[in-house]
Amino acid sequence: MDAGRPYHLVITDALMPDVDGFTLARQMEADKRLGAVNVIMLTSAGLPQGRSRASNISAQLIKPVKQSDLLDAILNAFVPRAALERSRERRPRRRTTARQRKFRILVAEDNPTNQKLVLLLLEGRGHRVTVVNDGRQAVSKATERVYDLILMDVQMPEMGGFEATAAIRRHERDVGGHTPIVAMTAHAMAGDRERCLAAGMDAYVSKPLRAEELLGTVDRVGGQVGREEPGRNGSPGDETHATRAHPATGAAGADVVSASGPLIDGGALLASVGGNETLLREVVSVFLADTPKQVALLDTAVRAHDAAAIASSAHALKGSAGLFSKAGAYDAARALEQAARQGDLTGVEVACEDVKREVARLEDALRSLLDL
Ligand code: MN
Repeated sequence: MDAGRPYHLVITDALMPDVDGFTLARQMEADKRLGAVNVIMLTSAGLPQGRSRASNISAQLIKPVKQSDLLDAILNAFVPRAALERSRERRPRRRTTARQRKFRILVAEDNPTNQKLVLLLLEGRGHRVTVVNDGRQAVSKATERVYDLILMDVQMPEMGGFEATAAIRRHERDVGGHTPIVAMTAHAMAGDRERCLAAGMDAYVSKPLRAEELLGTVDRVGGQVGREEPGRNGSPGDETHATRAHPATGAAGADVVSASGPLIDGGALLASVGGNETLLREVVSVFLADTPKQVALLDTAVRAHDAAAIASSAHALKGSAGLFSKAGAYDAARALEQAARQGDLTGVEVACEDVKREVARLEDALRSLLDL
């Protein structure tokens, strides 16, 4: 308790030799460094309950303790005490569900449009959010302080999401704790879930991100303590992923809207951001501001015949464009990224022109949809 790394919760048995649980709680209460740490007391039936109750005891549970009661007690321990007391006055025995909880969340994502979307969605739910641009910064932040949840893009410059997760898990082996990490992956293929779990992640959401899935996963995983067992607790979303056809699997022909068809389904787009038009406008603004830079980078990379740089720019364009439409720009950028990753630069100039033309169409369509 004294090592400079604060614990946020102490779960203690009431009956212990030398210093019993209640004495421990009172000693902690009297210590200004430990006074704010919550204590959950495990007691036995037949013992006087609530004996010399210290103010830092957030719950007393009678053994044997049911998992769900312990989880509730842990969740309640992290509701600010004043708020809890207010709610007790109004509605005794009110339960705080995971859905209502506000988390401190670290987001590691290199794509500015995705960053903006995730930030606005999470802040809209009252979460406190820190955004970093790559895995290296994520590791550094995650070892500085404890977050309730980390959202981790898989593909990032400097250090990718799998590598960053491994580094964070190594750190946790030294200092204890387990921060839930949710992967954000553009692959969305069967087996992705297993790969993310194997890398030490707790869950994943697929890109292009959708508000409902992202927020649902944050509520579910952030409310958990400790690691989700693989194969258990799968959300309906996870089931869908394992089987959902995706462009990368070659099964998406039906998704692609013809060049003469509507490029953007306004209703579906709005639904994908939870029906929040203000949020959609902000995300589109970031896209329109960031895209010319990405296109310029792509141009430079193509002129230099730099396959890695081409793949990286195409990946970025694919990631942002895919938020708005799976046709056109997303498809063109995906094809270019794949070719560049395989080191195939034949026809790269033509492919690059395709991407630029499709990106321009998407920009126009978004501007006219939102009257920008
Ligand atoms: Mn990325």
